[in-house]
Amino acid sequence: MRAWPARLVRRAPRPTAFLDRDGVLNHNRAGSYVTEPGQLKIYAAVPAALRLLARKGYRLVVVTNQSAVARGYMPLARAKAINRRLAALLKAAGAGVDAVYFCPHGPAGGCRCRKPEPGLIEEANRDCPADMAGSFVAGDKRSDLELGRKAGLKAFLVRTGQWRSAGKAHGAREFSNLLALARAVPDLKGK
Ligand SMILES: [Mg+2]
Ligand SMILES: [Zn+2]
Repeated sequence: MRAWPARLVRRAPRPTAFLDRDGVLNHNRAGSYVTEPGQLKIYAAVPAALRLLARKGYRLVVVTNQSAVARGYMPLARAKAINRRLAALLKAAGAGVDAVYFCPHGPAGGCRCRKPEPGLIEEANRDCPADMAGSFVAGDKRSDLELGRKAGLKAFLVRTGQWRSAGKAHGAREFSNLLALARAVPDLKGK
């Protein structure tokens, strides 16, 4: 489900960075849910990382599981408001993202949008298609890496948030944080 922007103009395909939210863009600990907009704390390195990714030619799309809705910890409207707040905070830091999508369902819901299922990427691609060849997923959990596999995309582990839960034998390239990742991925506008 798209939380932001309310209306999205369809654009030409572009390589897209599909970014996990909690533990990648904002601080997150195991077992804790962001259920109030005021709980969003953006990592210090993230605005620079997003600016660099955008400068290198990537579209920036946030894809996030928010099972706190299904678990009854917050209403759907607040989950949307938190994601709009995220977009606003990033914009205020001079680092916009292009869209934010979330899954409000729980593990038992059987939906197609809860990562690692690829529904959020499919929804984003219906709005604004990604050039899948140059696109990637970045996340702090095994489910993000698995999402990449299911969507046919490269996936990178960012060693922030709950990255330790991903274990060792996942085979994905790792970066200390999103800025390190942004420095390492190809510059699509490079000559
Ligand atoms: Mg995460
Ligand atoms: Zn879902």
